Amino acid sequence: MTARPRAGARGFAASLIDWHARHGRHDLPWQRRRTAYRVWISEIMLQQTQVATVIPYYERFMQRFPDIGTLAAAPLDDVLHLWSGLGYYARARNLHRAAMCIAEQHGGRFPRSFEAVAELPGIGRSTAGAILALSRGGRFPILDGNVRRVLSRHFAVEGSASDRAVIEKLWALSDECTPADHVDVYTQAVMDLGATVCVRRNPSCATCPVSATCVARLAGRQHELPSPRPARTRRQRQVFMLAAVREDGGVLLERRPEKGVWGGLWCLPEFASAAQAAYYVRRMLQGAPARPVPLETVEHAFTHFDLVITPLLAHCSGSAGVPDPAAQIRWYRARAPARLGLPAPIRLLLERLAGAAAVQV
Ligand code: SF4
Repeated sequence: MTARPRAGARGFAASLIDWHARHGRHDLPWQRRRTAYRVWISEIMLQQTQVATVIPYYERFMQRFPDIGTLAAAPLDDVLHLWSGLGYYARARNLHRAAMCIAEQHGGRFPRSFEAVAELPGIGRSTAGAILALSRGGRFPILDGNVRRVLSRHFAVEGSASDRAVIEKLWALSDECTPADHVDVYTQAVMDLGATVCVRRNPSCATCPVSATCVARLAGRQHELPSPRPARTRRQRQVFMLAAVREDGGVLLERRPEKGVWGGLWCLPEFASAAQAAYYVRRMLQGAPARPVPLETVEHAFTHFDLVITPLLAHCSGSAGVPDPAAQIRWYRARAPARLGLPAPIRLLLERLAGAAAVQV
């Protein structure tokens, strides 16, 4: 990380810094008062997620958790509640864990050394570099998806990003391109270039500040680079979810295990088959019908598979009890919702139930 930049790489950085002054993004919420904490939260939220989607989540998160201490002291449910709908919930769990770690091991102050930052849960090499470069001007290279695409094209790096040798080459290029001065501006500039100009489909080479030296453009190969990852076959997963509804409008939810899909979030109880759901209803819920009624399916796309949920509606009489008081189970009231992390399709299902007056609130 201390290599001196080569002349070509210096030109690359200088062109980007100059371009950013005129065309870069300067008014994003995390660009105001750039503390390590604020940059950290933005970098995590921006992983796999567009800026426009992130902004309202970021604003709400900062309002509720303005500093590390507040985040560390909050219940995980509060954090997941504000993350609901943003997806990739391991990010939220790691943020919370990292905040507690900073509170316990670093006196509540965001660590200053690269090594200490990179050791925090959910922070890898690129994110640690981005936080320290953007908030403190530390000279650290970054290699997020956008930067990978820009460097792959500009320097015509062949091979898939799943290949370790390719990644190492890109890290070396990123290091060479990272200037000694104005690192914060350069880092923002290269990320912005990837997000707004050198985009995945149809890059705007005509407006690109480094088009004169871009090997891919000169060879007319912008659309071939970076080399695509080998395609994976997409799976479909079918599940059944029990929508058990009490007379007072409560809907039965259970917290999912920490590991796996929607880890730590609250969800309708899930079953592999309708028969398993019916067995659960008979054993656990008072006054419920022998066979719950299937409702319209809900589909949700994850990165590598599609989830198809068949909700099964079962009204319970009286005040059906919580089946297992020790389990992570609760009755959720649509009219007075608790602050819980709910996956987007479950929120949708609960709204549907309430809207159809199936939930008698
Ligand atoms: S010239 Fe085109 S392909 Fe090359 S870096 Fe710029 S936008 Fe990307």
